Amino acid sequence: MNLTNISTVKDILSRHGFNFSKGLGQNFIINPDICPKIAEMGSAEKGYGILEIGTGIGVLTKELALRADKVSAVEIDTRLMPVLQETLGEFENIKIYNEDVMKADLRKIISEDFSGLKAAVCANLPYYITSPVIMLLLESRLPIDSITVMVQKEAAQRLCAKVGSRDSGAITVGVNYYGTVKQLFGVSRGSFMPSPNVDSAVIRIDVNKEMKLEPNEEKFFFRMVQAGFSQRRKTLANALYSIMGLPKNDVYSALSELGISESVRIEALTMEQLTDLSKRLMTIN
Ligand code: SAM
Repeated sequence: MNLTNISTVKDILSRHGFNFSKGLGQNFIINPDICPKIAEMGSAEKGYGILEIGTGIGVLTKELALRADKVSAVEIDTRLMPVLQETLGEFENIKIYNEDVMKADLRKIISEDFSGLKAAVCANLPYYITSPVIMLLLESRLPIDSITVMVQKEAAQRLCAKVGSRDSGAITVGVNYYGTVKQLFGVSRGSFMPSPNVDSAVIRIDVNKEMKLEPNEEKFFFRMVQAGFSQRRKTLANALYSIMGLPKNDVYSALSELGISESVRIEALTMEQLTDLSKRLMTIN
């Protein structure tokens, strides 16, 4: 079955009485070039189990299953279950979980379904939860090598910005802390049904095997990053004082020990400066 053929897709959906849900971010890929590319650039290959988030009618799921040993996919919309039975029923290496990705036990899925395999995540993410899903995957330290996902173009720009540049945000620091991120290719809005109001891009995050901080230091680091970016126009010392109550003099002395100006804003600091600063502030407080 050709899942990028518009009349085939319309026929399946109408036979199942399916209407697109905007709230669930349902924009399905109909451009035939996209899913093979995501699969190939996202490590869907022999020796890999791929975790997919949000199957829609299974257009990407199928391309993943043609290349990887196993595919386990989490899809929240119960109405899609009979559709998927029809579109993917013949594949023995696909398992669908009718669950909310934010609540699913992803560690269990990976360890039970992908035993003896390497694991990676591939998805055309529902846009309303792009950042929470990416941070959930990274923060829970799942045993995955990489995350290859389609996101809105603007989100891709922020995620792929350089830490220490004006385009960066808390999410930029978050993904760059856990891995290395790069943009793979852009995707125009016309590649989807229904067509969204924005263009998209596919990014890949290669997850670090070793982290820059000890687990007990990470909590403070992320609180500091959140606080700094929540008032990014203020100097870092002012933002940390007003959000975390850190005495300004402590921040000034930590900054000066690192050779950084007292009036610095968080967006100007590199990853190394941020981790060094957080370690120093943690020992003072
Ligand atoms: N992979 C399909 C494609 O590329 O055509 C569908 C992508 S569509 C952008 C996002 C999918 O994620 C939808 O099928 C939607 O129902 C599903 N979804 C939305 N929220 C979800 C959640 N919290 N957990 C799991 N799936 C979710």
